[in-house]
Amino acid sequence: MISHRLEHFTESVIRDMSQLAVIHHAVNLAQGFPDFPAPDEIKRAAVAAIMEDYNQYSITWGGKELRNAISQKAHKYNHIEADPETDITVTCGVTEALMASMLALINEGDEVIIFEPFYESYGPDSAVSGAIPQFVPLNHDFSINEEALVSAFNKKTRALIINTPSNPCGKVFTKDELKLIADLCVEHDVIAVSDEIYEYIIFDGRKHISIGSFDEMRDKTITLSGFSKTYSVTGWRIGYAIAEKTLSSAVRKVHDFLTVGAPTPLQCACLTGLNFPDSYYKGHAAMYQRKRDYLHDTLTKAGFRCHLPEGAYYILADMPEGTEMDSLAYARYLTNEIGVAAVPGTSFYHSELGKHKLRFTFSKKDETLQEAARRLEKLNK
Ligand code: GLN
Repeated sequence: MISHRLEHFTESVIRDMSQLAVIHHAVNLAQGFPDFPAPDEIKRAAVAAIMEDYNQYSITWGGKELRNAISQKAHKYNHIEADPETDITVTCGVTEALMASMLALINEGDEVIIFEPFYESYGPDSAVSGAIPQFVPLNHDFSINEEALVSAFNKKTRALIINTPSNPCGKVFTKDELKLIADLCVEHDVIAVSDEIYEYIIFDGRKHISIGSFDEMRDKTITLSGFSKTYSVTGWRIGYAIAEKTLSSAVRKVHDFLTVGAPTPLQCACLTGLNFPDSYYKGHAAMYQRKRDYLHDTLTKAGFRCHLPEGAYYILADMPEGTEMDSLAYARYLTNEIGVAAVPGTSFYHSELGKHKLRFTFSKKDETLQEAARRLEKLNK
């Protein structure tokens, strides 16, 4: 009775781990959402929008003023020129934007290239849209394995998903790597779907680069981003897709029939966010860099081996030497016995590698991270 497309994936392990954390009163470093408040100004703007009766459907592809502001932001920050009338679709988070993009692009049997480790929803998005995922493992240091990438492209390849900065490993793609991807997309007539939701959470002076800003990729990229991570409002579900007008009109059709539109008053509030000064974004990245350093230190002391993330708000760590459990069993043990929840690496890998890794988020208050550190000390006893 159920579609065969659903046979190939299970429910979200990230959300399962979050629930397990609640049951066991564990510190939740599993699901990536802030446990600290969103900026007052943006919350007040949401309340005001509701009280001023912005409570009915907005334009399906997003309120005009919000699209105008996104267009300006895309010009200034991403170096992408987007016509707000035709090239921008406001969606219910990047999650919807990605699914709408895939449904708009894919014919049954098309292949989609996905770098591994990958964010949990890319596999299911491929399955639902009828695409066959081709996983391309990143090197041990999360750089691109050029040979593996080149050999993944073929006549059936329709799209490639990029996530920079990346969830779960914190990789920030370099200009040379994006250039390599762009050249291959041009050669094989492939669309890059670029998930840039963590674009403002970037460390150590690195710069965020959007592949959609490359001239040759102008007509070949769907750039996805949103407000969840930038303004700490993951529950609002406001994101957007930017693409030239033919691609955008396909995305808009799917988006319309999936959702009718994103929540109107919250779109108004996000507009307030887009007017924040540059200092807000600098402060946001600096806050997360401090939290990254703290959690990296904590995990290293507890016996995990981990790269220092270049962006986003997760650390993907190798489990301590000598651990015999696989990552799912170990994540349960950590949650139930040690009182710290993380996500097993199997959520982010198609290959066996995920059995030896756990993902921890540092999108939490300092007190929360300190409590996690206290609990993790038990691992050394
Ligand atoms: N993006 C967040 C994470 O990776 C939340 C995902 C989710 O709820 N599945 O943790």
